[in-house]
Amino acid sequence: MSEEEIKELPGVGPATAEKLMDSGYKDLLSIAVESPRVLSDVADLGDSTAGKVIQAAKDAADIGGFETGDQLLEKRKNVGMLTTSAESVDDLLGGGIETGSITEFFGEFGSGKTQVAHQLLVNATLPEEEGGLDGEAMIIDTENSFRPERITEIAEGRDLDAESILEDIHVARAFNTHHQMLLAEKALDIGDEHPIKLLVVDSLTSHFRAEYVGRGSLAERQQTLNKHLHELLKFAERNNAAIVVTNQVTANPDQFFGDPTKPIGGHILGHTATFRIYLRKSKGDKRIARLVDSPNMPEGEAVFKVEACGVTE
Ligand code: ATP
Ligand code: MG
Repeated sequence: MSEEEIKELPGVGPATAEKLMDSGYKDLLSIAVESPRVLSDVADLGDSTAGKVIQAAKDAADIGGFETGDQLLEKRKNVGMLTTSAESVDDLLGGGIETGSITEFFGEFGSGKTQVAHQLLVNATLPEEEGGLDGEAMIIDTENSFRPERITEIAEGRDLDAESILEDIHVARAFNTHHQMLLAEKALDIGDEHPIKLLVVDSLTSHFRAEYVGRGSLAERQQTLNKHLHELLKFAERNNAAIVVTNQVTANPDQFFGDPTKPIGGHILGHTATFRIYLRKSKGDKRIARLVDSPNMPEGEAVFKVEACGVTE
């Protein structure tokens, strides 16, 4: 459908349409909001043709419109809340992890990001009365840290049917950034066939960090990460699903910040993730979650534990 629409734009032949599609311009809106210079680059068009194509896309695209606050409030009623299994953390988030948004957990190695991810995958399959989303879940695993055995351990520790939960968790390993981005697109197809209510990317940034090294590649990295994040947001919106991503912290200034408690990913991730939660280790199996960014909740901290049965209060 979108492909046909793109082909019908004046000044766009089949070859140009293909170049645009290959570069990730898959609907009219993505073309309508692009700058002529970038578009002429990706599709080998003259600047003035690019300008005309963009104008035509603007005329044809459904750019949406303004809604009133009460309409939005009505829509907010569809937002689902996924429990983290620790009431203190749920309270910190205003009830749990919201569907329709990106929630980021960042912290050092061993701070519990992957453990929280496993717990959320289990919880998403639970009925709503139990804090679940009554659906299926999906994870893009970039560090080979997903363990089905861990799902079983968490489920059995809570007297849940581990086998049926595992059947509802879709797992894919991503070998590099390109693969990771393709998997996010593929997730959209799977979301059309299964009621996927949670998509986890653990870790969102590790491949990006490894592949784009040095200051010279920062702009390109941010552009690619931006594209990936928007694919994830599209998934969230289309499926009313929660998106949870994990991210490490860095002390390396080349990774944007000199502060060892800052997440990598720079402004792009900072602006796209709606909720950002900083995890750190405390004594024993205790962990501290700190909400550092939220549109409607104050900053604050909550303590939880990672035990054999997963996340606990
Ligand atoms: P990285 O940045 O390296 O990916 P992470 O934040 O994802 O780190 P996790 O793998 O979530 O870290 O946390 C690992 C910690 O979780 C272990 O050090 C251990 O304390 C705890 N843990 C892991 N498995 C279990 C288990 N089966 N039972 C209890 N605690 C566990
Ligand atoms: Mg991990």
